Amino acid sequence: MEPVIRPLIDEDCFEIGLNHIFPMADAARIAGEESWLCPDHLDPAMEKVRLGMKSWLVRAGGRTILVDTCIGQHKERPRHAAWHRRGSDRLLRDLAAEGLAPNDIDLVLCTHLHADHVGWNTRLEDGRWVPTFPRARYAMSRREVGDWRALAAASDVPVNHGAFEDSILPVVDHGLALYVTAGDELAEGVTVEALPGHTVEHFGLHLHRREGAALFCGDAIHSPIQLRVPEWTSAFCGDPDLAVATRIAMLDRAAEEGIELYPAHFRGAGSLRVRRDGNAFGPA
Ligand SMILES: [Zn+2]
Repeated sequence: MEPVIRPLIDEDCFEIGLNHIFPMADAARIAGEESWLCPDHLDPAMEKVRLGMKSWLVRAGGRTILVDTCIGQHKERPRHAAWHRRGSDRLLRDLAAEGLAPNDIDLVLCTHLHADHVGWNTRLEDGRWVPTFPRARYAMSRREVGDWRALAAASDVPVNHGAFEDSILPVVDHGLALYVTAGDELAEGVTVEALPGHTVEHFGLHLHRREGAALFCGDAIHSPIQLRVPEWTSAFCGDPDLAVATRIAMLDRAAEEGIELYPAHFRGAGSLRVRRDGNAFGPA
């Protein structure tokens, strides 16, 4: 069976100031790009970047996989109003529309452990956080789990919006964490890939397909704006220089080899193929 890929939407659109997400942005660099960036990825005044939150459902190699789990439901996120005690269950409804229940998920890949990528790892049941996908193993970086554990232990206030305690630790405590490293094969034709920079051990998931590979690349790229200016890196990248180098290498390879990219935060169709365009890139 050929692989099947579907987006599951947790949040269709949120706006963030161009200079808030990309502190070094100069709007003049993207003048003239309105026709393909607006209105899906940029507001018409070109001041606000428009992003979404999506999880990718991948059925391949006999397994049913989710890449990232977005913001989640009922989480205490007092420092982020739009995430605080959210009621939306859209992501699970999108899953149901594919004919699947949480029990059908075999594997969750956490590209990294930021609060907007692990939220649906758990759900609230009788006042406790339990794994949303009880049959799944949750693939993640041992090093990143260790780093967040140490930071959470050393801090009196929630770090990472409290996501370690409510969205990662319950999975680990239920024995469902699967610690992976780059090169690990998670199913036939499905391999973990290193895309470091946004976080120290940020992962991608590489899917071999007959019509060309797919790369689920998480936050290695946040917006299609970065095709034009890949050196603009987000304010949330832990190692900005490494994030830029990883992004440029990834875009180069995607253009060269015809790899289709599936990032976490693109709106619209959500995936894209890219081409080289002078010193930068464009949509293919
Ligand atoms: Zn993110």
